[in-house]
Amino acid sequence: MLLNHGLWYTRPGFEPTCLPLGLLHRARTREMICPVLSQPDPARHLGPCGSTFRMCAALLAGLFFSAARTLYAADPAPPAALASPAPQAEGEPSAAPATGYFTHPAFLEHRTGEGHPERPERLVAIETELRKQGLWDRLAHPLPAPASTDTIGLVHGADYIANARKDIAAGRGVLTTGDTSVSPGSWEAAILAAGAVCDAVDAVLTGKLRNAFCAVRPPGHHATPDRGMGFCVFNNVAVGARHALRARGLERVMVIDWDVHHGNGTQDAFWTDGAVLQFHTQERDIYPGSGQADERGAGAAEGRILNFPLERGSGIAVFEKLYTEHLAPAARAFKPQLILISAGYDSHADDPLGGLGLRTEDYGHLTRIVLNLADELCQGRVVIALEGGYNLNALGASAAATVAELEARGRQARPTPISPINTPEK
Ligand SMILES: [Zn+2]
Repeated sequence: MLLNHGLWYTRPGFEPTCLPLGLLHRARTREMICPVLSQPDPARHLGPCGSTFRMCAALLAGLFFSAARTLYAADPAPPAALASPAPQAEGEPSAAPATGYFTHPAFLEHRTGEGHPERPERLVAIETELRKQGLWDRLAHPLPAPASTDTIGLVHGADYIANARKDIAAGRGVLTTGDTSVSPGSWEAAILAAGAVCDAVDAVLTGKLRNAFCAVRPPGHHATPDRGMGFCVFNNVAVGARHALRARGLERVMVIDWDVHHGNGTQDAFWTDGAVLQFHTQERDIYPGSGQADERGAGAAEGRILNFPLERGSGIAVFEKLYTEHLAPAARAFKPQLILISAGYDSHADDPLGGLGLRTEDYGHLTRIVLNLADELCQGRVVIALEGGYNLNALGASAAATVAELEARGRQARPTPISPINTPEK
């Protein structure tokens, strides 16, 4: 189905081929040129191209997926944006993209079944909108590496990791731990989703990028240390936060979750970990049912989990008040060295699963509030990871509103590294 979105792409020395909106072409240092999207009005070309490729998609898909894998495997060079950061003085305007967009073709191979709302087309919708708005070419596109079992083990138990791998390898359609749909491609997608957030964290901490958006799937914030839940296998943001703390030596990380559903897995992962400040807004009385105001953490983390269950239809005014009166003071008191956002776009008014009433532009507004805080508190270090969002139009436009804010801020000075970076362990 995703190949209905196919377009012609080409690059010097390569025959044109059929791709799902370029997600497969981001082969490390290579850039491809799309003659369709380089037209003055690319939107006019989407229909005819899609129709044409519906006819040849089946033949080309297998061929190209195979070729793409060979291409990645044969190219040992690290992603260009990570391997060759442009040296830059503090305050100097940025020439190279300073906002990273981390995604991977393997995310499209996590297949959840016909009619499932968490589907590969979600990533295509975001990329389509970024291209339409001219943002795509203003972003860095590093290809993420998979997280190792040890890195995922910073959050998840060894038994759960092994069971998830076994379930997927056995061809199960749903993880044995619960309600998470999987397919044969889900293992690679899941370890890459966690790896993408870790890579984005590394790039931002080293100052190679100022901020980043991780267009990943499966999403992560429902996955607890010992079970997959919702549409989540591993908790990508939690793994990224622990990676920053344990592997990169940070002492304080803030996680903001604006998905319409409560990030119960993130809450569980850091329930007693005082190194993480969490700020959750969620629609009251929907899945997974947790996230009451009196859930505030325990031990060293007591009071470091802030939950705000919201009434259906709350809208941006409620969010803005909470961000101003609760999120900002808590962040200033905590002084995070890095801010991660679990960005769910199912808080949008048009989303079929949620009803918090946010509009597309509201996501840009919330992003601006967080970026202002990050500029004040942690040299602008923000890494955003996709969680929910199931209306493709609303998702694409709202994620683009987020990325537009990141990109605009990224053109300002990049932060300097705050900790020596060890050899990545994954
Ligand atoms: Zn959600």
